Amino acid sequence: MDKLFDIKNRVAVITGATGVLCGEMARELARRGAKVAVAGTTQERADKLADEINGMGGNAIGLAVNVLDKDSLIKARDKVMKAYGRVDILVNGAGGNNKAATVSPDLSFFDIPADALKWVFDLNILGTILTTQVFGEVMVKQGKGSIINISSMNSYRPLTNIVAYSAAKAGINNFTQWMAVHFSQKYSADIRVNAIAPGFFLTNQNRFLLVDEKTGEPTSRAKQILGHTPMGRYGTPEDLLGTLVWLASDASAFVTGVVVPVDGGFSAYSGV
Ligand code: NAD
Repeated sequence: MDKLFDIKNRVAVITGATGVLCGEMARELARRGAKVAVAGTTQERADKLADEINGMGGNAIGLAVNVLDKDSLIKARDKVMKAYGRVDILVNGAGGNNKAATVSPDLSFFDIPADALKWVFDLNILGTILTTQVFGEVMVKQGKGSIINISSMNSYRPLTNIVAYSAAKAGINNFTQWMAVHFSQKYSADIRVNAIAPGFFLTNQNRFLLVDEKTGEPTSRAKQILGHTPMGRYGTPEDLLGTLVWLASDASAFVTGVVVPVDGGFSAYSGV
């Protein structure tokens, strides 16, 4: 079993690594002996995380990446190839929603600006596809690799208010299946593409929906979420790590094109 889950010396690229969930993923891959290239939107933020990982005995480099800019992704790939010579694992973690694309008492669906909708679609969908183009090419040359996309609960059934984010994450599931088939049929059955669909985790991108800004109390949406999560709590970043290591390693060698919910039972519960 230990050998199946072994990712020692594998090279992992993680986008969104300076964020809450994927930062913890980067630390865990490093703790397990992977060499990690951690991508953030600025070199400074990426280096700060890389320094932290190196300080705890890991092996990390920082990358400044805009997942919407192919040139910046290619520059990052050059840096990874120079430092580590290959890419075994790609975590497409950059993603999120924003307030300007969210229905609220102050903003009706009909008034959401096109550029706010586009921002959400681009970040979640285009960013994942472009990053897969750039780092997937290395995996094609190697004939092996594991790509892990980060989806969401709203990809199965949309959540209220977050119209573009729901559609974009549904697109991530569709792309995960498409890409899994494409790599297997055209290039190598050992290039696998899967996704994790986290349930509810209290992080920066959703705090405004879950915590009342004025009182600090849970919003009615937060109460509904916890009421519909059989385990009765939010997830913690650590809750994602077992699934991450399974998908990244040879333990999941015959698994491709799946989206794994890590949600405390949210997707299983009808509410009755
Ligand atoms: P986060 O905001 O802490 O992290 C997102 C990261 O993406 C940030 O570090 C940000 O710098 C980076 N990013 C934004 N735009 C970028 C760009 N153009 N190029 C490169 N990087 C960019 O959010 P998080 O909660 O840690 O989310 C991580 C992933 O998990 C996202 O894909 C998110 O949609 C998904 N997710 C989160 C939850 C949750 O409850 N928090 C639930 C389901 C899915």
